[in-house]
Amino acid sequence: MIKKITDIFKEKNRTFSFEFFPPKTPQGVENLYKTVEELSELGPDFVSVTYGAGGSTRGTTMDICLEIQKRFDLTVMHHLTCVGHSQTELKAILDRMKANNIRNVLALRGDPPKGAEKWKPAPDGFEFCYQLNDFICDNYKDFFSIGVAGFPEGHIHCPDKETDTKYLKIKIEHGGEFVITQLFFDNAIYSEYLERLRNTGINVRIIPGILPITNYEGLLKFCNICGATITREVHDIFKPLNGDDEAISKAGIEFAVKQCRDLLGRGAPGLHFFTLNKVEPAREIWKRLGL
Ligand SMILES: Cc1cc2nc3c(=O)[nH]c(=O)nc-3n(C[C@H](O)[C@H](O)[C@H](O)COP(=O)(O)OP(=O)(O)OC[C@H]3O[C@@H](n4cnc5c(N)ncnc54)[C@H](O)[C@@H]3O)c2cc1C
Repeated sequence: MIKKITDIFKEKNRTFSFEFFPPKTPQGVENLYKTVEELSELGPDFVSVTYGAGGSTRGTTMDICLEIQKRFDLTVMHHLTCVGHSQTELKAILDRMKANNIRNVLALRGDPPKGAEKWKPAPDGFEFCYQLNDFICDNYKDFFSIGVAGFPEGHIHCPDKETDTKYLKIKIEHGGEFVITQLFFDNAIYSEYLERLRNTGINVRIIPGILPITNYEGLLKFCNICGATITREVHDIFKPLNGDDEAISKAGIEFAVKQCRDLLGRGAPGLHFFTLNKVEPAREIWKRLGL
């Protein structure tokens, strides 16, 4: 059933969702559909498909969203960034989403393309996410539910957490209706973030993004890029297991289950799992949480 995520919020206090990325090959895309099919049996409230930083996979985000909607009758959210796009291009993408009844968009500015050090908007494009939010609201009124990204530890290029909070507030005031966070491993960071946002008058849902750890070195690399802190506890558990994929996955499930239980206990309005296009460990975590 095609729904706006904000309509799902009216029915549910908490949502549980999965995130996928567009594979590079046709075989990869077919494998993804098998993954989505298996995870769809768990009954997620919605699933989302990321938008490539540039290059080959960008066009496939929409195709994958449409296919998931058609094959599995799931509510989908299309991620969309401003990277390299003029307003005309963004409008063409959003028009196609609207024509195909994709009603949810995670509006993002995106990162500079590979090789480029600094962010530079495309000619006639946008510099910040809040401008994309304005564009969506101005052109499509309330057709779309608009989600935005949140950074519990502050965005890596933002000078401090207070400024980051101020910018998030602007994104919300310009149409953002809920937030999905960057990964984090210390739930105290999430609680402090929530308190900071509430004190600033941000009252939308802040859904924690959860990464089940499956690879220690990959985690080091990713967190180095996105600026998320790897806690001492995470290093202590996963570093000694480096190279033993099975042991890492098992420990990753244990860690994520503990983290998710605690987050739900702290009142988190749901969980958004970064699946990395794998059925496990997301399914096992889901089952162990009794979702
Ligand atoms: C849940 C989630 C999903 C994501 N999915 C994708 C994806 O599919 N594809 C992809 O390429 N990337 C994705 N990203 C990464 C994201 O695109 C990058 O982190 C990007 O650097 C920031 O995007 P944003 O929308 O938060 O940008 P913005 O909110 O526009 O922020 C960008 C930078 O500008 C600063 N800023 C913001 N507002 C203002 C303002 N009003 N004045 C001055 N400075 C300002 C911020 O501090 C930040 O440094 C995702 C991130 C998350 C958390």
